[in-house]
Amino acid sequence: MKRIIALAAVWLGLGAAAPPAPPADMALWRLDCGSVLVGDLNVFSDTYAYTGRTKTLTDSCYLVRHGGQYLLWDTGFPKELVGKSETDGAFTASMKVSLVDQLARIGVRPDQVTYVGISHRHDDHTGQLPEFPHATLLIGAGDFETLKARKSDRITPWTRGGGKVEPVTGDKDVFGDGSVIMLDMPGHTEAHHSLLVRLPRTGPVLLTGDLYHFAENRATGGVPGFNTSRSLTMASMARFESIARNLHARVIIQHEPADIAKLPLFPAAAR
Ligand SMILES: [Zn+2]
Repeated sequence: MKRIIALAAVWLGLGAAAPPAPPADMALWRLDCGSVLVGDLNVFSDTYAYTGRTKTLTDSCYLVRHGGQYLLWDTGFPKELVGKSETDGAFTASMKVSLVDQLARIGVRPDQVTYVGISHRHDDHTGQLPEFPHATLLIGAGDFETLKARKSDRITPWTRGGGKVEPVTGDKDVFGDGSVIMLDMPGHTEAHHSLLVRLPRTGPVLLTGDLYHFAENRATGGVPGFNTSRSLTMASMARFESIARNLHARVIIQHEPADIAKLPLFPAAAR
């Protein structure tokens, strides 16, 4: 009987140490990481949903303050793009300001960034990674393997420079208190993640990564033909929508220009 009670206590989580409470001074900033003119919107639909259409998307990065620590979520295009415009296939990318310059405006130095979390390995999310060599890199294990296999110079500080990296499998509770969680959402790439940020006043915010690219894409469940897995993408979308519903979360599609207005305009932050 005693053993049964003990087992039940374990099962119910009784006696386990409660997770630390999130700090009251958490904050979330949206950072500008450039914009992309998409010349053929059908690159985001493997069912030809957007034939003949073009669209300008935004490229967003985010900074989360958690007590005295910072998590930078995604790093946009490379800083060399600042003030320029470059075309690659259906995409024309441009960028006005670097991450380091934006962080300086709110008094944050690159070496104060504790973690850099990467939603996935694509170029428009990893460009300014090398500016944060002191940060612990959090990236889906499958995406990290692909970058290593391709000998990407974006990850050199962590493959050869002695930087600390934590390849993520499944979900990752970044600060150990449930306030910031990398959510396992594979399909766009091998180990793509979205980010849940639970702010004390604003409430839960979900950053999509590239699970969706724009609002219509989410409404109609559009799957880009270049995703690594259609079936995993569909499963991730189902999980994401359940989380959004259950938590009554504010969903921000990172590439959707209309979603910029869902957070205070930089340098202001959501709290
Ligand atoms: Zn992508």
